[in-house]
Amino acid sequence: MSLVIHYPTASLKPHKEESLLGGHLWIFSGALQQPPHWIEPGGLVDVKSSTGQFVARGYYNPRTDIAIRILTRDIEEAIDTGFLRRRIRSAVELRQVFDPNETNAYRLINSEGDGLPGLIVDRYAEVLVAQIHTAGMERLRPLIIDALMEETGSRGLLLRNDSQSRRREGLEVEEVLFLIDPWQGQKTGFFLDQRDKRQALRKYVQAKRVLNCFSYTGGFSVYAALTSDKTHVTSVDISESAIEEARQHFILNGIDPNQHRFLIADVFDYLEQALREEEQFDVVVLDPPAFAKTQGARSQALKAYRRLNMLAMQVLRPGGILLTCSCSGVIGMDDLLGVVSQSAQRLQRKVQLLETFTQSVDHPINIAMPETGYLKAVFCRIG
Ligand code: SAH
Repeated sequence: MSLVIHYPTASLKPHKEESLLGGHLWIFSGALQQPPHWIEPGGLVDVKSSTGQFVARGYYNPRTDIAIRILTRDIEEAIDTGFLRRRIRSAVELRQVFDPNETNAYRLINSEGDGLPGLIVDRYAEVLVAQIHTAGMERLRPLIIDALMEETGSRGLLLRNDSQSRRREGLEVEEVLFLIDPWQGQKTGFFLDQRDKRQALRKYVQAKRVLNCFSYTGGFSVYAALTSDKTHVTSVDISESAIEEARQHFILNGIDPNQHRFLIADVFDYLEQALREEEQFDVVVLDPPAFAKTQGARSQALKAYRRLNMLAMQVLRPGGILLTCSCSGVIGMDDLLGVVSQSAQRLQRKVQLLETFTQSVDHPINIAMPETGYLKAVFCRIG
């Protein structure tokens, strides 16, 4: 059964269909008889010749010189999930020329080259990084995301909608947007409760040497590294998979991981070694797991926090910044401030308290239940 689908029509001036019949995918505004005013930017149109014949189907934008970008020349092909999946499948098939033992990074969708004008997708291992450059593709975004995830089996998709062409198209320039697909089979997540501290860290780390202890998948590290090409970040975590994901997060955000350091190590051991080797940092982040889960474990935990903070202060240059956190429910803000002040006293270093935080706003605390607040974080300058 053949099904003919109709979209609003845009008519060409005489003979302007020739390049389209040859496979070109753009129609400049001057080739149209009349701009179809009643179509929203990015809306789908059927392109007809001056004699009224169907030529192609694409999307229209009145704001750009390229008025229409063609998606199909098949009158029976609707622009829907099925269409996107067929195009993506064909692109995936072509990339099978790459031996997976040799590379896991390549361009998966190359805009017009793969029949999807306005869409760029690069693949880095199991993660896709996409850019949507046009209003037409933006309208198809939810379908594109589903189709990409289904056709590639990727674990994650990052939409980097920060390109300047978006402005010309009348689209918002977005910052970096993480779209984390259910991280299948991976016992992992993201520490959303540190969002505000990651943001706050940025002003201290430009062009600095930063040590991120207990980095997990590099939340603080990525924020720091993004502030400047001159920032150098060392990420330390005992978990090999966390460090590997941290490295992936650098790549996702366009940062060369080889310009930074990733260490699989026990933080205490690493800090002692750094101290012996007289390594110095401008900024140190300490975000350890909860040392105390129960009241009984409190004094042991306080000891561990003191040891950790003293070690961190010793690898900090005078005037360096320490961000120290505790996510133990039984350790209060006063306890943490006590840890910092006692550690500094023992080392005869001065402390200027700069900023204090709890968990970020999406983790509100019920004030009648102080135990719903668990995270404390302080930024200090260590003299
Ligand atoms: N700062 C992270 C979250 C840290 S979670 C973020 O912003 O996302 C705590 C991390 O500490 C975990 O990744 C765990 O693997 C690591 N860890 C626990 N004990 C450790 C130790 N002794 N040395 C190094 N890493 C450790």
